[in-house]
Amino acid sequence: MKILVPVKRVVDYNVKVRVKSDGTGVETAGVKMSMNPFDEIGVEEAVRLKEKGVATEIIAVSLGVAACAETIRTALAMGADRGILVESDADLQPLAVAKLLKAIADKEQPGLIILGKQAIDDDMSATGQMLAALLGWSQGTFASELTVDGGNLTVKREVDGGMETIVLTLPSIVTTDLRLNEPRYASLPNIMKARKKPIETVKPEELGVDVTPRLTVVSVAEPPKRQAGVKVGSVAELVAKLKTEAKVI
Ligand code: AMP
Repeated sequence: MKILVPVKRVVDYNVKVRVKSDGTGVETAGVKMSMNPFDEIGVEEAVRLKEKGVATEIIAVSLGVAACAETIRTALAMGADRGILVESDADLQPLAVAKLLKAIADKEQPGLIILGKQAIDDDMSATGQMLAALLGWSQGTFASELTVDGGNLTVKREVDGGMETIVLTLPSIVTTDLRLNEPRYASLPNIMKARKKPIETVKPEELGVDVTPRLTVVSVAEPPKRQAGVKVGSVAELVAKLKTEAKVI
């Protein structure tokens, strides 16, 4: 079984994001970029399935500017076999990404596609679900455990009331939650090996997908600054403040 793992290049999660002065988005120039953390979990899960003999090939796909090839290299160093870069300078929104991934899935015929539950830059949490709908495949979102047994896939997912277990018929879409696994660090020899692994580059037009944005960002703003706290001298003073100032009791 082939596994397709979409990996998005996003602002590194350790970077304190700054809003552009014209309020059109977040500053990315000169900022450290990395693989979306939920996608690292996706790559790790795919590699574990290959180590168990369930998967035969792992294809890492990234969509965006040419530098997304670096994100694919990271996936290759973690254990993916080859990469596909869908190169575009356009603002690729979830529906366009889902359509492009569908075109790749139609060609590659994977048994499983593992996406992140959300990209930490746009927090859309939409691409996996849209892709499942476009392909007409079963989906197990926010997976915190995953087992493949023949043609079935068992997914445990955290829901409000506890854990839900669902059984899907392959081919399926899975989106990863934080507890699914702890991704490995790529070793130096594997980073060297990854340099020789192939990355194919395609353009959205070649996949027959119109990527024109459908959503308009009206404005992006920093959250309001938190006000400094105060120290209270006694429990009585705290209770008084909660009653008269915060008015919460
Ligand atoms: P989102 O719906 O934008 O929150 O993204 C959910 C998941 O879709 C991500 O964790 C990725 O697995 C995948 N994805 C979204 N955009 C891209 C992209 N440009 N390149 C690769 N994967 C993507």
